[in-house]
Amino acid sequence: MNPYWSRIARELSPYTPGEQPRIANLVKLNTNESPFGPSPRAEEAMRAAASDSLRLYPDPEAVELRQALADHHGVRREQVFVGNGSDEVLAHAFAGLLKQTRPLLCPDITYSFYPVWAQLFGITLETVPLDAGMGVRIEDYRREAGAIVIANPNAPTGIALPRAAIARLLDEHAGIPVLVDEAYVDFGGESAVPLIADHPNLLVVQTMSKSRALAGLRVGYALGDAGLIEALRRVKDSFNSYPLGRIAQAGATASVRDDPWFRDSCSRIVATRETMTRELTALGFIVLPSCANFVFARHPLMGGAAFAAALRDRAILVRHFDKPRSAPYMRITVGTPDDVRKLIAAASDILKGR
Ligand SMILES: *Cc1c(COP(=O)(O)O)cnc(C)c1O
Repeated sequence: MNPYWSRIARELSPYTPGEQPRIANLVKLNTNESPFGPSPRAEEAMRAAASDSLRLYPDPEAVELRQALADHHGVRREQVFVGNGSDEVLAHAFAGLLKQTRPLLCPDITYSFYPVWAQLFGITLETVPLDAGMGVRIEDYRREAGAIVIANPNAPTGIALPRAAIARLLDEHAGIPVLVDEAYVDFGGESAVPLIADHPNLLVVQTMSKSRALAGLRVGYALGDAGLIEALRRVKDSFNSYPLGRIAQAGATASVRDDPWFRDSCSRIVATRETMTRELTALGFIVLPSCANFVFARHPLMGGAAFAAALRDRAILVRHFDKPRSAPYMRITVGTPDDVRKLIAAASDILKGR
């Protein structure tokens, strides 16, 4: 270990992002990116923003983008916070809201960044096991807690809770902040955003990386009571007061205002997910019911790690999580219909040898 490291750096166990390899003709189904490009209007707005104006700092409050998001979601601008990817927004929420005296609760199988932030900010994290069907059970959260974070739909299972269940969770924990990470909600989940009006303890976090095909731009946001948003703003202004550049603000704003492109892109991905699920099931896979742009699937004849390695040998990349309950599974991003054909052909080839 390098002798110059601080205690913080020494004790971290960082998140491992999905591989971003440079292999030609790779079918990349490992990081839940969109198979389609972003809205053409967003591209146009970004080209226009790439100008002499870049010598000036961007709007630190991102007023136009926050107004566009407020209009889109039917909330007020004071109820919107934007950041450099939802990962940054989540990090600020962990520091500004979820760090309480009593423990933070989250499911045992969920976005694997949550334990990393908990460690970074010195938050005691307590995991609540998913039920036998790999779903979140609201009743299991009736215990001593300082805050709660859940992803809905959950990652990497893809399973979604209905809005009524989230409402119950909020009512049962009205005294503590509850964060709902909706990174995948646009692919068939029910958003908790309409609950914000009656629940000052609810923070909803969304991203432009998946359903808006802007993973490369790094824009995420939070929606919630103005009181919660103010905590995020205080953390941001103590960390990086200009998190979103001019190009990101312009592109993200144009994307939010292009509803037809958004709806079309999401519905194509949902349609491909249904085809992919049918074909994987026909090959003998057990596929969890997904409301996301990926599926979580296992095959009774082969472990997740071995299957993922065999797919990689055939230039198809999927994600595998090496934890006891998720080890049998692979998380496979929904690609183009052509990607799915290649995936199914490769999987059936692998299974032929069994
Ligand atoms: C992808 C993902 C994020 C992070 O998204 P960015 O906006 O790209 O940082 C957050 N939460 C979950 C559950 C995700 O899957």
